[in-house]
Amino acid sequence: MDIELRNNTLFFDGCNTVELAEKYGTPLYVMSETAIVEKCKEIRETFLKKYEKTRAAYASKAFLTLSMCKIIEREGLCMDVVSGGELYTAIKADFPAEKIEFNGNNKSVEELELAVDYNIGRIIVDGLDELGIIEKVCREKGKKMSILYRITPGVKSDSHDYIVTGKKDSKFGIPLDDEVIFPAIEQAINSKYVDFLGFHFHVGSQLHNNGSHLQALDIALKLIKDTKDKYNFVTPELNIGGGFGIKYTGADDKKPYAYFLDPMMERIENFCKDLNITRPEIVIEPGRSIVGEAGITLYTIGTIKDIKGIRKYVSVDGGMTDNIRPALYQAVYEGVIANKAEEPKTDVVTICGKCCESGDILIRDAKIANAERGDIFAVFSTGAYGYTMASNYNKNPLLATVLVKKGKSEVIVKRQTFDHMIANEVIPESLK
Ligand SMILES: *Cc1c(COP(=O)(O)O)cnc(C)c1O
Repeated sequence: MDIELRNNTLFFDGCNTVELAEKYGTPLYVMSETAIVEKCKEIRETFLKKYEKTRAAYASKAFLTLSMCKIIEREGLCMDVVSGGELYTAIKADFPAEKIEFNGNNKSVEELELAVDYNIGRIIVDGLDELGIIEKVCREKGKKMSILYRITPGVKSDSHDYIVTGKKDSKFGIPLDDEVIFPAIEQAINSKYVDFLGFHFHVGSQLHNNGSHLQALDIALKLIKDTKDKYNFVTPELNIGGGFGIKYTGADDKKPYAYFLDPMMERIENFCKDLNITRPEIVIEPGRSIVGEAGITLYTIGTIKDIKGIRKYVSVDGGMTDNIRPALYQAVYEGVIANKAEEPKTDVVTICGKCCESGDILIRDAKIANAERGDIFAVFSTGAYGYTMASNYNKNPLLATVLVKKGKSEVIVKRQTFDHMIANEVIPESLK
């Protein structure tokens, strides 16, 4: 277990979190290498080894640093990137280019050129004009790129509207109207500059029910059949996205990967048998599920305001700048006072950040022990979409990140300094 309570203190992957806070300062992201590795292992054992012709591409937007690239490479996964910056980070970490896949609804010409220059594995084409741009870039550079089409399966998944991506009214993917999708497929099949591998879908995020994955799968399988019937072309690959939910609080029920993947694989294999075609290579893109529970954030408690009969605000030294998710989509977290980890949770308080926004609330109605200035507060399951969504609002520096493993800790991201923050700012002559 990564989380333990010893001597009234919270330990994470064998490290005393109060000592981590002292040593590295707060606010601080702490990532457990053990927890990340366990998740990768679950993917290998229950998917990659169980089914041949499969790949898992870590959706790096959940948490991406140079060190994370090294872990993902070592654990045998591929990497999904969605911007030039993510691609650059992976390349700088010497991540094998052929194992990189590039998603995104509005890739710039420069980003596509970068992808072609680096010879990455695949581009997931997200719109009708994108193929033309890739063809032009490949023609100019004398290269060929492997592509898939991201389709909009038109299913509604059961998650917050901001993280639902598979419904038809979406900025992601190509809608499945016959007069739209089939000419696009024909163009890709006939193109001299791309290898058309097939289809991709991603229905949404933080899902605890496999219904929308299965619905989307049926739609993708029908498209594979239509493509075979119309063009006598069997697509060699199918990417079924990510979105596997994690446990943020005791109320979330966590499902193993197999809960999503086994019924999908069964359906795919039956479909291919019926159609008498070779099964396409199946690719998944887990993000949150690999890193979410592998991260915690440590804060120092400051001002405490007890508004009699209304609410008690307990302020911490970070907030929406290091974790935007509660403000962005009412995400719910749990936490504990790390130096009072075994004391009875007798108080109900609102944990708020230090930013100048009333919405800068990390946890509403948190049940915690009696809080005092100087206590260390730990928020759980912050490993995904925390660091990568962080901002410098109110000129708060980005946090340091330490990687912990069985009692050892190492910095993998240094704390940003005030000087870093203003490094790109200039005062023109006219203002001097
Ligand atoms: C965000 C994203 C993922 C990963 O989603 P998680 O919910 O973090 O697993 C996978 N594929 C695509 C295309 C994405 O945009």
